[in-house]
Amino acid sequence: MKIAKNQAVQIHYTLKNDAGEVLDSSDGAEPLAYLQGHGNLISGLEAALEGKRAGDKLNVSIAPADGYGVHDASLVQEVPRSAFKGIDDIQEGMQFRAESNQGPRMVTVTKVTEATITVDGNHPLADQTLHFAVEVVDVRAATEEELSHGHVHGPGGHHHH
Ligand code: ZN
Repeated sequence: MKIAKNQAVQIHYTLKNDAGEVLDSSDGAEPLAYLQGHGNLISGLEAALEGKRAGDKLNVSIAPADGYGVHDASLVQEVPRSAFKGIDDIQEGMQFRAESNQGPRMVTVTKVTEATITVDGNHPLADQTLHFAVEVVDVRAATEEELSHGHVHGPGGHHHH
């Protein structure tokens, strides 16, 4: 069975940056389960997997625009320290969930001064070319329930209680 829209797919993957550092990997864990064609993965990776079968291995490099985006300067904000009331120890690299015009999003603290905190709403992997080594583990038709939820259930996917 080939990977196509509405297939439930399991993959093992390793993600490296341009410097060859491993950023993320399913190594030693269960494969990642996702629903093809539903935006579960970054668009460049979904496109590369389309038409592949269980057992296929591929190496794919994905430009920022098809990955986690090009860095958007308008998402960087300097805010008064008082906006972080109740949090004493704020350091660069910390992540918070913040409200924005586009709804909640994760922001990363990029600069800390006495009076202000600079936060960046870009994805930490924005502007990075992503190098994936992927092995397709399993491909099957998704269930009606999975399609209505927009994600895969079971091992490597979503678990509902
Ligand atoms: Zn679900």
